[in-house]
Amino acid sequence: MRSEAVAVTGWDTRLDRIIGAAGTKLAKAKNLHTAGDLLDFLPRRYLDVNQAGLLSEFEIGEQVVLVARVIKASTRPMRNTKRKMLEAVIEDAVGQRARLVFFSAYGHEKALVPGVGAVFYGKLESYRGDLQLAHPSYSRGDLDAPDLYPGNLMPVYPHIDKIPDVAITRSVTLVLDALAAQGVRDPVPDDILDRHHLPRRLDAYRALHLPVDYAQVGRGKRRLRYDEALVVQVALAQRRAQYDALRTTARRPRPAGLLERFDQRLPFELTQGQREVSATILADLARERPMHRLLQGEVGSGKTVVALRAMLAMVDAGAQAALLAPTEVLAQQHFRSIETMLGDLAQGGMLGGAEHATRVALLTGSMPKARKQQVLLDIFTAGVGIVVGTHALIQEQVDFADLGLVVVDEQHRFGVEQRDALRMKAISPPHVLVMTATPIPRTVAMTVFGDMDISELRELPPGRQQITSHLVPAAKPGWLERTWQRVAEEVAAGHQAYVVCPRIGEEGDSAQPEEELPEWALEVEESGTADTTPRHHGVIETLATLRQEPALAGLRIEMMHGRMSSAEKDAVMSAFSAGEIDVLVSTTVIEVGVDVPNATIMVILDADRFGISQLHQLRGRVGRGSGGGLALLVTDSSTEATVDRLAKVAATTDGFALADLDLELRREGDVLGADQSGRGTHLRLLRLTNSKDVELIELAREDAARLIADDPELEVHPALAALIAGRVDEERAAFLERG
Ligand code: ADP
Ligand code: MG
Repeated sequence: MRSEAVAVTGWDTRLDRIIGAAGTKLAKAKNLHTAGDLLDFLPRRYLDVNQAGLLSEFEIGEQVVLVARVIKASTRPMRNTKRKMLEAVIEDAVGQRARLVFFSAYGHEKALVPGVGAVFYGKLESYRGDLQLAHPSYSRGDLDAPDLYPGNLMPVYPHIDKIPDVAITRSVTLVLDALAAQGVRDPVPDDILDRHHLPRRLDAYRALHLPVDYAQVGRGKRRLRYDEALVVQVALAQRRAQYDALRTTARRPRPAGLLERFDQRLPFELTQGQREVSATILADLARERPMHRLLQGEVGSGKTVVALRAMLAMVDAGAQAALLAPTEVLAQQHFRSIETMLGDLAQGGMLGGAEHATRVALLTGSMPKARKQQVLLDIFTAGVGIVVGTHALIQEQVDFADLGLVVVDEQHRFGVEQRDALRMKAISPPHVLVMTATPIPRTVAMTVFGDMDISELRELPPGRQQITSHLVPAAKPGWLERTWQRVAEEVAAGHQAYVVCPRIGEEGDSAQPEEELPEWALEVEESGTADTTPRHHGVIETLATLRQEPALAGLRIEMMHGRMSSAEKDAVMSAFSAGEIDVLVSTTVIEVGVDVPNATIMVILDADRFGISQLHQLRGRVGRGSGGGLALLVTDSSTEATVDRLAKVAATTDGFALADLDLELRREGDVLGADQSGRGTHLRLLRLTNSKDVELIELAREDAARLIADDPELEVHPALAALIAGRVDEERAAFLERG
């Protein structure tokens, strides 16, 4: 089919209208439905056909490019693993043969069947006298279509069954020509592209699929990365503009009210940072534009006091405040500590309550029904000024008399849609304060939290004890025994211990499907493939083992994990808080916010199974009292990168430095994935740790601000609006609509 004959409407043209049946196949195999989808299906790499030669022209040890055909292929199981290996024989143009071997046949066995011609790229080896290529790259296709590749660079695509690379190249060529003939609109205005020396989007795609040289590939990548940055930044700028347009009630605390009295009885001086951030927040609350602020600060930096002051200001202004925690355990704990801090200031309407006192209520999903009904009624009738709760608070039928402020603790467990749902509980939009203890690097803040104002608490309150961390190589004789002795010593000194495991019970099959991204988008190779039979500690079996452990004889050891009921968890947590449990074996349910000052030692088993920020967060649970804390990171990994990563965590207590390190070692999908931030921002190509990409993000941020200031709804930029609509996932789209 000739492309000129097809009436195309743009990037979203259905593929089958341009390439016919091939389009249907691509839709089925890879979910590629539109012209844009196919163009976004980027090559992983390129093979330079200019360098191709015959087997006889190369030497052992050389990287070779070979044009050859598969003669034989077979798979066989490999010892000690579930994998199969693929062995094949290929033959070059003059009939010389080499052996091919893939130690994991997966994905290759269907691609490399006898008769298939391809260009292979890899290191030529000698194996038992035969020439061999071990897991080479290859691009499948007819070998006599060189005119298809303007720079003799053959793209290698993620594998699709029965569709060779050359067929994709043909389809891409047709699509590029069709879109060019139709004069498809570039989503980004020309003046911006010219200013940043970026190619047109269609040219960028052509450069990436059919490059003339590698310099062109670089320019193409830069353009797509810029677009990705712009999409995120425009969406954020739009959301920000919508916040700016919102109006709410300005709240000013009554003089000589609760806040003043609370300050007078505070047993410590606020740090300079706490004072500054508090002042900023009170100023925000006194405005008609709803506050939308992120407060980040190390574990123990005193965020809760800052939040409580804001909530008291709200109550003084005659409205209500809600504090949302990610778990019941945390909600309980916040509730208790707020009641304690407020004392008789929290006994409004009760005998012995102070003048102007308010009331604090706890609302969780597991509360008895009658109790819950009463709390709901109190919230509705304004009998309660401060409500502390879990998600239940928003999922159930809660009507506030006048909700003025929502504080969300630990952002990383809380999604946009949840905050948004709570916002809907108020007559006019409430002020929102989000607190997180996971330090967020600037680039992430710019990308993920670009719609919020950001405050930081960088100093810890005086007298805070440092947490010392050590790496424990479990494989070395005696080290683990010493670890348990150390726990026993801590308990003997009147303290308590946590033992953290990566899972609850028996090992599940957590094998994840491999994500197919172009190679150049992947900064970090996944490591750890060497360990084929991982046996990670589970809470249940560790509890049993530790109860048998001679060093821990006589200690009260209990467990806590997410599969226990809320009531069971609360009971264990209360007992641990009360000092009735010496050693608590648990999963990461204790990760966020749990505050038992008497717990001074934490043993993290299989520490390599946890992310850097998570380890930092976990160990923040010890050393909250005056005694200083000790974290022992146990691992039986001997992989250099893993040990190095853990050693860095052990050596650093600066959460911001660790957050940067964390970011370097992760892929953006992990950083920005829905389960991390609840925002579902999928960056495919941008790397937040790459300084050139950060530069692009900064450019895009400025451009987005200008675009949105001139044209908030992107009316004169429909192609950009469409690109954003396509990329911004449904969660966010829904959010934007509701504004
Ligand atoms: P975060 O929520 O940031 O982890 P918290 O607000 O829970 O930290 O504070 C940790 C502990 O430090 C609490 O026991 C709190 O009472 C105490 N604290 C907070 N601010 C100060 C301060 N300025 N001086 C001394 N102790 C403080
Ligand atoms: Mg906290």
